[in-house]
Amino acid sequence: MALFEVPGWSVPTAPVSILAQSTSKKRKRPAAQDADKMQSAEVNLDKLMQKLGSVGNREDKQGPKKKKKKQERTTRAPDTKGAHATSNKATEKVSSPHGGSIEQPVKGVSGLRKKVKQKKSLKHDAGKPEQRPRNVSPAVDEVPGLTSLQKGMKESLDGARFRWINELLYKSDSSEAVRMMKEDPAVFHDYHSGFRHQVQSWPSNPVSHYISQLSSYPQNTIIADLGCGDAVLARGLSTKKLKVLSFDLISDGGYIVAADICSSVPLPGSEPSSSQTSEGEAQVVDVVVCALSLMGTNWPRCIREAWRILKPGGELKIAEVASRFTDVDEFVSLIDSIGFKMKAKDDRNSHFTLFEFKKVARTSRTDKEWSKVMSKGDILKPCEYKRR
Ligand code: SAH
Repeated sequence: MALFEVPGWSVPTAPVSILAQSTSKKRKRPAAQDADKMQSAEVNLDKLMQKLGSVGNREDKQGPKKKKKKQERTTRAPDTKGAHATSNKATEKVSSPHGGSIEQPVKGVSGLRKKVKQKKSLKHDAGKPEQRPRNVSPAVDEVPGLTSLQKGMKESLDGARFRWINELLYKSDSSEAVRMMKEDPAVFHDYHSGFRHQVQSWPSNPVSHYISQLSSYPQNTIIADLGCGDAVLARGLSTKKLKVLSFDLISDGGYIVAADICSSVPLPGSEPSSSQTSEGEAQVVDVVVCALSLMGTNWPRCIREAWRILKPGGELKIAEVASRFTDVDEFVSLIDSIGFKMKAKDDRNSHFTLFEFKKVARTSRTDKEWSKVMSKGDILKPCEYKRR
C-alpha cells in the first residue's frame, strides 16, 4: 500500500507518482459527481445503520418529539459522522488561500456540532484533559456486525473526510488549522485515525527511525517534537532517560501540549536583538524533531521557532514526504537562511527525505526581511491524493 493512501480510497502508487499524476492530469471525475457519490453513500449508509439498529432502534423508541429533532438534524447539514444524516448538499466548496477552492464534503460538522463545540472549547480552556470527543464516529473495526459492503462504504466516507482535513491542513495558514481544531476537536481525532491507518501500511516510518536514533543520545537530552501527532516519539522513548516535549494542535491531556508550532511554541528562548551574530539565550532544548509536520503554508515560521527554542549548536531533524519537494537545494538554503547549517541528508527512502541541521549564530532580522523568508513556503508542495 502506498504512503498517505486514504482509507477506502485505494492509491496504488508511491506519493511521488500520486503527486505527479495529480498535477499533470486533469481530474477524471467532476466535483458534482463526487457530490452525488457522497450523497448516495450517505443515504445508503443511513439506511444500513438504521437496519443494524445502532441508531435507528433507539430513535424509533423515542416518540414523536425526538423523531422530529432527528428530522431537523438530517435536513440541516450533511454529516458523515452521525452515519444517519442525509442532505442535498453533500459537498461544498471552501476557498483556499491559493485562490482555488477545496471540496468540503462534511461541512455539517460546524452546524451540527455547534453546541457541543462550545462546551468543549470551554473545557479545553480550563486546562482539563481532552477526552475523545463524544461525537466522533467509531473506526470501522469498532462497529460490530458490518458487512463488507457496509465496511467499504464507511471507509469511503471516513477516507473522504480524512482527505478533506488533510488538504485543508496543507493548503491553509496554521491559524486556520488552529481555528478548525478548536471549533471541533473531533477533526483532530478523525485526522489522526486516518493518519494511523496510513502508517500501518507504510514500509517505514520516520518516527521509528528517530526513536532508534535518539535512543542512543545522552541521558537528559531534551527533545521537542513539533507536530507530534499521537506522540509516538515520546511514547517510544519513555523508557529511556530522555525528555521529550510533544506539541500539536490539540492536547490529549497527557503527553501532548497544545500549540501552534508555526506561531509560538511555549518554551523559553530568544532571538538576537542586534546586528551582532548570536544564538539567542535561555533555551533548554537540545534537539527539535519535525516529522512530517511542516504542513501549514506558513511552515517556515515553525523553523524560526525551532531556532528560537534550540540551545546553541542544537540539532534540527526534519523528515518530509519526498514528493513534496519542488527543489531540495532551495529547501535546504531556506532552512539555512533561518540560522542552520545542514549536516546530513538521507534520501535513500523512496517515501521520505530526512535532514539533519545544526543551529548556527545569526543576526537579528527586520519584519520585512522575515516576511521575505516566510513567503517561501511554496518550496514544499501540499501532499495530495488522486481522486478516484
Ligand atoms: N510527527 C508525527 C505526526 C505527523 S502528522 C508522526 O510522524 O507520527 C503531522 C502532525 O503535525 C499532525 O498531528 C498535525 O496536527 C501537526 N501539525 C501540523 N501543523 C501544525 C501546527 N501549525 N501546529 C501544531 N501541530 C501541527
